[in-house]
Amino acid sequence: MSDLELPKINQKKCIACGACVEACPNQVLELVEEVLSFVRPQDCTYCALCEESCPQGAISCSYEIGWA
Ligand code: SF4
Ligand code: SF4
Repeated sequence: MSDLELPKINQKKCIACGACVEACPNQVLELVEEVLSFVRPQDCTYCALCEESCPQGAISCSYEIGWA
């Protein structure tokens, strides 16, 4: 599991709307002076809810869950 990477934030696309902050079940994300930051990266469960919640497509998870 150690090769999992945190979701990537495209700061150029991010409009600091806070949707991902609310979507994250583990309070991993926070807006710090309008800049989205991983404040608790160790708590990330790679659920990808932040990616789904972003209206800007600014978050991308570098992994995919496949359903066979
Ligand atoms: S993948 Fe899930 S746990 Fe990790 S930052 Fe996004 S919403 Fe939070
Ligand atoms: S949901 Fe997207 S646009 Fe909104 S704060 Fe998060 S990364 Fe930025």
